[in-house]
Amino acid sequence: MSIPQLAFHPDGPICSRLVFGVWRMADWHLPIHDRLTLIHDCLELGITTFDHADIYGDYTCEGLFGAALKDDPSLRSRLQIVTKCGIKLVSPNRPSHTIKHYDTSRAHILASVERSLQELHTDYLDVLLIHRPDPFMDADETAEAFTQLRQAEKVRYFGVSNFLPHQFDLLASRLDFPLVTNQLEISVMHLDAFADGTLDQCQQLRIAPMAWSPLGGGRLFKSDDPQAVRLRGTLTAIAQQFDGATLDQIALAWLLAHPAHIVPILGTGNRDRIRSASAATRINLSREQWFTIWTASTGIDVP
Ligand code: NAP
Repeated sequence: MSIPQLAFHPDGPICSRLVFGVWRMADWHLPIHDRLTLIHDCLELGITTFDHADIYGDYTCEGLFGAALKDDPSLRSRLQIVTKCGIKLVSPNRPSHTIKHYDTSRAHILASVERSLQELHTDYLDVLLIHRPDPFMDADETAEAFTQLRQAEKVRYFGVSNFLPHQFDLLASRLDFPLVTNQLEISVMHLDAFADGTLDQCQQLRIAPMAWSPLGGGRLFKSDDPQAVRLRGTLTAIAQQFDGATLDQIALAWLLAHPAHIVPILGTGNRDRIRSASAATRINLSREQWFTIWTASTGIDVP
């Protein structure tokens, strides 16, 4: 059964309820045939949205994915590409960078998008995000770059990542079209977004936040930290209340249940784990189960 879709914003774009994250793809050392199989597997499950950034894999992941799109151009119209820009890494692949820093200038955004389009073998991006809030951002200039890319039909929608509400508001105030998402670290192990106003802002604006590291970057499964140990016990107990469910499915269902319409970005490249994760969209947690997991995460009863 295919997983559902949702709109990031009432005006679009339509994305899948779970997104596939490409950050770790370079570590998997997959030949092109296996990369194609992975993309086909995701599409078969209904995972049609793919999350990239220019810097992933030390600037190589967009190219690894793009080579697959070049091999099978019919794929492009069946999937949505989200990518990011604004971080400059010191890397042999960018010899001109002398210090790790942020760059949200018009020139850098335009150049970064041109490169992403080339690497991904496409002539448009579905969504472009500014990867991190930039303390040196000139909001007028960043907005000009967005407007120019939209007019040139190189990017359809825009958003941000790791922005606090006031940072989001500043950039939004310079645009005459909406920012459609804020990609945030959200998981049973990382609750900041529930208290720092970011999720409240998403509900207020009716935009769907994307959740990065939705399984704590894998720490949920192996960390000896007391929070992770408590969570494993609780998630496993709740999983038993859903016939044959697994710990990862419950952790994802916990995000999916939230009224802000959180969209988890899966980080695994393992076929069986992707398939298992997709079943989380069919699990509906009750409010009591949701708070049992919240309490396991914080270690204390709500006040
Ligand atoms: P994650 O799903 O929280 O973590 C993935 C890790 O968990 C992998 O090492 C994976 O190992 C392991 N894992 C997943 N399912 C498992 C299971 N059932 N049992 C045991 N281990 C399991 O996600 P993430 O990779 O940290 O992040 C997901 C995506 O978020 C990235 O790909 C990227 O697109 C995005 N991201 C964005 C930002 C940002 O600043 N905007 C930052 C970080 C990440 P295996 O591969 O061996 O399964």
